[in-house]
Amino acid sequence: MSEYSSACEQARTMKSFEDIDCPKCHAHEAIEAVIMDGLTVGDSICDECGYVIPEGTNHKELAIIEMMAS
Ligand SMILES: [Zn+2]
Repeated sequence: MSEYSSACEQARTMKSFEDIDCPKCHAHEAIEAVIMDGLTVGDSICDECGYVIPEGTNHKELAIIEMMAS
């Protein structure tokens, strides 16, 4: 019963975390982005060089940033 309600809660908020390679210094998974409803929440900052992915970046843009990092 409680399992069901927590699954329901997760589906509603749709919050996830994604580790992204930095496109500037190429540090592996140095940027931790919090994603809600397909958009980043708050600025996501590279631990290594301070590169910032601004709030409101969508999934498609994140994929492009990751392509730049590789
Ligand atoms: Zn960096």
